[in-house]
Amino acid sequence: MAFSLAEDYEALTQFLYIAPIGLVQARLDGEIVMVNPVCAQLLMPLSRDGELSNLFTALQGVAPDLRHMTQVYEGSHGMVCDALHLQVDAGRAGRKDAQILSLSLLKLDEQRLMAVLSDVSKSVKRDRELRQSLAWINTIVTGLTDYALVALDASGCAVSWNPSIGRVAGFVSEATVGRSYAMFYPSDGMSEERALDRLHEADDSGWSLDEGWRVRADGTRYWGSCLIAPLQVPGNDALDACPAGKAYSLIIRDISDRREATEALRQSVSSDYLTGLTNRRAFFEAANLELQRWARMPRPLSVVMIDADHFKRINDEHGHAVGDAVLRHLAAGMSFTFHAMDVVARVGGEEFVVLMPGIALEEAEAAALRLCRSIEAQAVEVDGTFIRYTVSAGVATMQEGIDGVDELLQRADAAMYVAKAKGRNRVERWFAGANASPHG
Ligand code: GH3
Ligand code: MG
Ligand code: MG
Repeated sequence: MAFSLAEDYEALTQFLYIAPIGLVQARLDGEIVMVNPVCAQLLMPLSRDGELSNLFTALQGVAPDLRHMTQVYEGSHGMVCDALHLQVDAGRAGRKDAQILSLSLLKLDEQRLMAVLSDVSKSVKRDRELRQSLAWINTIVTGLTDYALVALDASGCAVSWNPSIGRVAGFVSEATVGRSYAMFYPSDGMSEERALDRLHEADDSGWSLDEGWRVRADGTRYWGSCLIAPLQVPGNDALDACPAGKAYSLIIRDISDRREATEALRQSVSSDYLTGLTNRRAFFEAANLELQRWARMPRPLSVVMIDADHFKRINDEHGHAVGDAVLRHLAAGMSFTFHAMDVVARVGGEEFVVLMPGIALEEAEAAALRLCRSIEAQAVEVDGTFIRYTVSAGVATMQEGIDGVDELLQRADAAMYVAKAKGRNRVERWFAGANASPHG
């Protein structure tokens, strides 16, 4: 039996010797009985006399109290100290980071001590960096006035927010929680579906950024940017309420002061010079994006093609400049009729197209008809002359089997020519036989 115990002890010592942490076995007065290589490596630079005979002496420079702590320790066995951090070479020149050792001293019995020593510099540094960045984030989140940070759940509803939400958007916290972040947008500028799209976009590409009009709680508008990024923060109290643990952060910035510059740039690149509507290039860009969204998650998406009737006559009778004024009038009428979420574009001379995300065929047709009736009812005054004109429109909606923006537009175009053929000043839907255009 005694033999077996001795063997076990030998095996244990062997194990301790090769353990990847520093281990020292010492007598109560600190005299070292056994020290493993890792520990010797850690202790050697500390020992002032270059010897490793006494634990307390070796640690004198970094833990002067250790001998005393051991002497006054009252229990027959137990922890004299637990994970005590020893700052080894703080302030030593030429070394960027101080070395930090963690020391645990165990009183085994009335004769023996066991010390566990490990270098924790890296994890302490990491820990400190983490705490620093948390403090830093906290400062940003609570201290800066022109950012509002909102935590969103998987469906885009506000879960928590930082105090500056009040300063940026004028919302009080209680009124914000549980509501979709669409509340920060003008009602005609964002639907709940579109709000979800942006979350998916953030999932796919890491973030989603948009810039435009936003509303404050009191209904006033400001020019803002919204950045959405997916968050994976398990254990964050504020986000624990989120189903499936999915969450997003939304950063809203009031960039009213930057609006003019950004708008001017945006205008010059994506607007039509004559009418100020979206230009052809920007339209196709927007339409391609919408079709990609549709492919990911099919939902109503309609287009309306609009062409002025007998426009050559207007030009011939009144001159090109008057024709231009009429086109501007039509553009204004379209901006008025369609919603902010619709992309209203001038794609040709007197040809316009409206892309309507989230809008089914019937609703698009109804909007186009409203435009027709409204244009028909007005007379445009240009230099004292009153001009009446009409428009024809064709409507098509996105469906399985439509291969790209061009095909969708071709359908709306074909429907528009049916409207022309049926006498103009009317709206037609695309149908399977509507492909022949009178212009070839
Ligand atoms: P329809 O009812 O069949 O559309 O007859 P239309 O005369 O409008 O025929 P079409 O659409 O083929 O002709 C378009 C005319 O619009 C040709 C051109 O004189 C005029 N146009 C095209 N771009 C401009 C423009 O920028 N300014 C002006 N003033 N006229 C334009
Ligand atoms: Mg025309
Ligand atoms: Mg035309």
